[in-house]
Amino acid sequence: MSEQSRWPGMSGLVLAEPLLWEKGCPGRIGASLPESDVPAAPLEGFERETTGLPDLSEVDVVRHFTRLSTWNFGVDTGMYPLGSCTMKYNPKINEKLAALPAFCNAHPLAPAQLSQGAMRIIHETEQALCEITGLTACTLQPSAGAHGELTGIMLIQAWHRAQGHTRTKMLIPDTAHGTNPASAALCGYAAVKVPSGPDGILTAEAVAELMDEDCAGIMVTNPNTLGLFESNLAEIARIVHERGGLVYGDGANLNAIMGYADLGRIGVDVMHMNLHKTFSTPHGGGGPGSGAVCVGPVLEPFLPGPRVAEEDGRLVWKAAGPQSIGRLHPFYGQFGVILRAWAYIRTLGPALKRASELAVLNANYIKAQLRDVYELPYPQASLHECVFTDKKQEPFGVSTMDIAKGLIDRGYHPPTIYFPLVVHGAIMIEPTETESLGDLDGFIAAMRDIAEKAESDAASLHAAPRLTTVGRVDEVGAARKPVLTGDM
Ligand SMILES: *Cc1c(COP(=O)(O)O)cnc(C)c1O
Repeated sequence: MSEQSRWPGMSGLVLAEPLLWEKGCPGRIGASLPESDVPAAPLEGFERETTGLPDLSEVDVVRHFTRLSTWNFGVDTGMYPLGSCTMKYNPKINEKLAALPAFCNAHPLAPAQLSQGAMRIIHETEQALCEITGLTACTLQPSAGAHGELTGIMLIQAWHRAQGHTRTKMLIPDTAHGTNPASAALCGYAAVKVPSGPDGILTAEAVAELMDEDCAGIMVTNPNTLGLFESNLAEIARIVHERGGLVYGDGANLNAIMGYADLGRIGVDVMHMNLHKTFSTPHGGGGPGSGAVCVGPVLEPFLPGPRVAEEDGRLVWKAAGPQSIGRLHPFYGQFGVILRAWAYIRTLGPALKRASELAVLNANYIKAQLRDVYELPYPQASLHECVFTDKKQEPFGVSTMDIAKGLIDRGYHPPTIYFPLVVHGAIMIEPTETESLGDLDGFIAAMRDIAEKAESDAASLHAAPRLTTVGRVDEVGAARKPVLTGDM
């Protein structure tokens, strides 16, 4: 076996493809129209010469986009261990249900008596999410996790206003996802950073020191982005409540604790879930997603409307109450994503707990198999993801970026890197429950091979990726000076 054939990554028939502007050929056309039988007339405001669009045939266009599609990588292609993103396999039964004509042709303006099936899906999904979180009411309107956070912070703000409070700050741990401070800021709150303790979780003391009469509450991700369970959360919630604040739960990592942790009982007042992460919708390309929000009784009057309710066995739409924060989305949310989540929850049922168990087991297996070759900054028990660093590779001039690029040459999508920000050179691995032992072993072998090459052949890692169509790009330049047209 050659060195390369040890890994699933190959380069064989991946075809190069230029920009459409480079491919175009003056006079080519992608349509066959009959000879015009009317005199030509100029089209007001449309000068063919100045559109700048390339001239292409149908086959040019089809090959262009088909080739580009083969450059893509998704969870259907291979393991996708992006920490915090829960890139689990999305069962195809979900797609089959979402494609049923009665669902995909349902019209949001159709009256309730003609929409009972779709409304039943919404109602049952809300009920299931309340049961999973231990909270009491739900809105499915938000389109993403970040949108759910915005909704939740607006609910907290509306509750404070109703009490006659104006509070100006929101506590946010230093391990939080960047969307947390952004959501707080959108509602006018100043984000106050809470340092996590030496073992990577929040301490009640740190919260007690910062929580004052000007803090609207705290946003806590549980388990946090280090994959650690925030075991002081009940005590923290008690302190926050005592001082007149509310507790926001970022539920993006719910995949680790489904059926195991009752967030309502722990003291969370409102939390979002990423249905596209935990409850399996393909994601990563910018949506659509669904950031369902569950709340406890104190926040229920403020929820967006209309809300679905059951009356004498029929489902009806109930207009938003007088205290509602208003609509967050046209109609009722991303119905296709809600339907996939419903299918996923109904397919697994009580086995959702098993999914969490396997997600935790897989992450801990990787952790155990790599801890001798990569530094593990928080070695204590963790849940569904594990965070390593490049500290052991640094003396050889090999960085987290080189390790990530080396994985690409070995046929594995890199994990999340340089996040969470509290870990220098972080490599954050979340395998999810859907990887088999064989696939995990393949990934571990690739990571161990990279650790070995860091010592014996660092140059090969600096040159990675060598097998991709495009090598290393200037990522900062791409973000700062994006070229969005063909004019280079
Ligand atoms: C993914 C994620 C979010 C944001 O969710 P989106 O659906 O991407 O908007 C928020 N917090 C955490 C911890 C996440 O992992």
